[in-house]
Amino acid sequence: MKFVDEYRDGRIAKDLLRSIAKITTRPWTLMEVCGGQTHTLIREGIDQLLPPEITLVHGPGCPVCVTPLALIDEAIEIARRPDVILCSFGDMLRVPGSSDDLFRARAEGADVRVVYSPLDALDVAAENPDKTVVFFAVGFETTAPANAMAVKQAKASGLENFVLLVAHVLVPPAMTAILVSPGNRVQGFLAPGHVCTVMGWVDYESIASGFHVPIVVTGFEPVDLLEGIRMTVLQLEEGRAEVENQYVRSVRREGNVPAQQVMVEVFESCDRAWRGIGVIPGSGLRLREGYRTFDAETRFPGVEVAVRESELCIAGIVLQGRARPDECPAFGEECTPEHPLGAPMVSSEGACAAYYLAGRKRVAKRG
Ligand code: SF4
Repeated sequence: MKFVDEYRDGRIAKDLLRSIAKITTRPWTLMEVCGGQTHTLIREGIDQLLPPEITLVHGPGCPVCVTPLALIDEAIEIARRPDVILCSFGDMLRVPGSSDDLFRARAEGADVRVVYSPLDALDVAAENPDKTVVFFAVGFETTAPANAMAVKQAKASGLENFVLLVAHVLVPPAMTAILVSPGNRVQGFLAPGHVCTVMGWVDYESIASGFHVPIVVTGFEPVDLLEGIRMTVLQLEEGRAEVENQYVRSVRREGNVPAQQVMVEVFESCDRAWRGIGVIPGSGLRLREGYRTFDAETRFPGVEVAVRESELCIAGIVLQGRARPDECPAFGEECTPEHPLGAPMVSSEGACAAYYLAGRKRVAKRG
């Protein structure tokens, strides 16, 4: 299949590995931002095939993983209301809240439905005029335009029983937060190709120059990732810190302007808490004043939640690249996909799930 097979070609991958080994002269630590990239890297064993000087750490690009515990607890409380249908992507259902998850709330009678797009949730709202349909709007810049369109469509068609519980987060502020954190060890980034397909890479240019850190917009197939790593290492070895684009088949510098316009019309940026990390200024989206009636938190004010995080889970440290999942004391023991203690063990983009599914074993914490 064109645009897929050539990016999974073992011969090209081996050539790239040889090229990376040839240009690497000293230790470098790189972070891939997106959880989808993490899964490819770990599934294919790319981290183990790279020269020993190159360390990969995994970033916060799993939106389900960084959705704050308080918001998950709030979603569960809202879902339990008899007048509510809560619609969500499937990943969210098993993410542990303080004491429950949406899956259990559904088993106990809450009307929680898995949908594949916010437009499905709009249909549910049209079919159930006596209920309020809450769509759990989780995701990075990739999913925000579709959710903005759904809100615009609800407003245009007078669908007043449709609201969003907004948990959108933005990538560039998170990268900045990682770079300024005291324990940072990231020297180069593989930026998320799908986010940049929407947003372009203009916002990454000031990060690259301001922190003198190379950023390579990278795709998701093994050859994409190896090429992104090679481009990043080459910049580091040559002392350059620029934004480069490996994912040329999808990303342009300015991104998808119409998608950005609909996002900006409906959402504005705000400070946002990231699970396990804390509040990152300007890293979230909320509905603008003109669309605030479509905000679940406006429709259901004062939902009381008492947040309690697992004491064993170090997901916040993992999501900042300061530890790897196999260094977590609970990895594969107290915490498994069947009994997850944290969201990264649940989500299809979670780093802990990637390590577990690849059969990795727990290791002692590296120095
Ligand atoms: S392995 Fe489990 S407990 Fe450890 S960081 Fe990952 S999700 Fe948390």
